[in-house]
Amino acid sequence: MKVVICGAGIAGLTLANRMSALGNEVVLLERAPGPRSQGYMIDFFGTGYDAAEAMGLLPAIKDVAYTVDEASLLDEHGRKRGSVQYTQFARAIQGRLLSIMRPDLERVLRENLPSAVDFRFGTTVTAVDDHGDGVRVGMDGGEIEADLLVGADGIHSTVRRLLFGEIPLRYLGFHTAAFQFDAPEIHASIDNRFCLTDTVGRQMGFYALRDGRVAAFAVHRTPDPTQPADVRAAVQEAYRGLGWVVPAALDRCPPSAEIYYDQVAQIELPRWGKGRVVLVGDACYAVSLLAGQGASLGIAGAYVLAHQLAEQPVEAAIAEYERLWRPIAEEKQHTGRAGARWFLPESRTQLRIRHVALKAARLPLVNRFVAGALAGKSTALIRNMRDARSDMPGITA
Ligand SMILES: Cc1cc2nc3c(=O)[nH]c(=O)nc-3n(C[C@H](O)[C@H](O)[C@H](O)COP(=O)(O)OP(=O)(O)OC[C@H]3O[C@@H](n4cnc5c(N)ncnc54)[C@H](O)[C@@H]3O)c2cc1C
Repeated sequence: MKVVICGAGIAGLTLANRMSALGNEVVLLERAPGPRSQGYMIDFFGTGYDAAEAMGLLPAIKDVAYTVDEASLLDEHGRKRGSVQYTQFARAIQGRLLSIMRPDLERVLRENLPSAVDFRFGTTVTAVDDHGDGVRVGMDGGEIEADLLVGADGIHSTVRRLLFGEIPLRYLGFHTAAFQFDAPEIHASIDNRFCLTDTVGRQMGFYALRDGRVAAFAVHRTPDPTQPADVRAAVQEAYRGLGWVVPAALDRCPPSAEIYYDQVAQIELPRWGKGRVVLVGDACYAVSLLAGQGASLGIAGAYVLAHQLAEQPVEAAIAEYERLWRPIAEEKQHTGRAGARWFLPESRTQLRIRHVALKAARLPLVNRFVAGALAGKSTALIRNMRDARSDMPGITA
């Protein structure tokens, strides 16, 4: 089978890996002119972790992972007000938790692509003609005839728009930003922690990167989903006055082109595919950073799709992929929406309640609850697929 995948992010790279390893011809199109270095830290666990393990990618991902001991909440003077122990959380899920910068995860996926994958940076899909026997994919500079087109082009998917028209996102009431900067004194004070401001309505957090730089993560409430024209100015305005190291971080905020900035949103679609075109990852089931598992679901969803395509004809495979994977993605979307209120406290009272909740999170019973919530159906699904095709070649082998 010949497949065109639009979008070489986490889901697209995983699908390209898997489809190629299963003997398919793969053309992978990425709009960006080359690999991106911007990004944010991802907590990687759950089904994506299982799928990465099943593909033999876990050792390479572990090599680029960071050690994070705890998330610390700090007041405007840098005094600790609360914390969550990552080690405790990791223990609750048998250590199957990694902290990885998104560009590092993409690099591992890219470096493990089989050489047969036709990977084209600086290219996007401009037209789709599904004529029943195949799909003609128009792109800048020509067209490709294929058996399948997959849109793995993220929450603002072009393939989704070409397939279903303009469908509004479900805005969750936040904007988020991420950037990196040099600040040796901040780097040294953070160490192996994720340090966050303990604040109402807006929050910044910091990680120390191994190259000596600091990765900043920011999120704030706002009723308007519109992307600001000047991202750097918007970030400096939104987080001004938070105290601690925030003024220094805002001073060193890079130009807009080097800042990741987006609204926090989900997408819900009546169908994930039509004919010989299908979507995967954030393009059809973005859960948002509030659910904290989008990358994991991108990898696992691509794994499930590739396996279905190996088992049956295209349209039946697409239907089965959606039947198996939609309930799992929808459950995570629900979790994300339910957490919106507590993700970022709206008042001092909520802030205080969060402190109490963090203390309760140290109880063993909560550990068992967390582990139960993270395992379950989706983990079993990936393991069953892996076992059913244990003869398949490993990606890294
Ligand atoms: C601040 C933040 C923190 C997060 N934290 C976590 C976390 O802790 N754990 C977790 O699991 N997830 C987390 N996520 C979510 C996770 O990053 C996403 O869900 C995940 O990246 C989705 O992967 P994807 O491949 O579907 O889409 P993307 O990663 O968005 O990739 C889409 C790719 O398609 C390309 N593209 C877009 N349009 C086109 C086009 N027209 N033509 C060609 N290419 C195109 C893009 O350039 C990009 O390379 C977080 C997200 C944010 C914003």
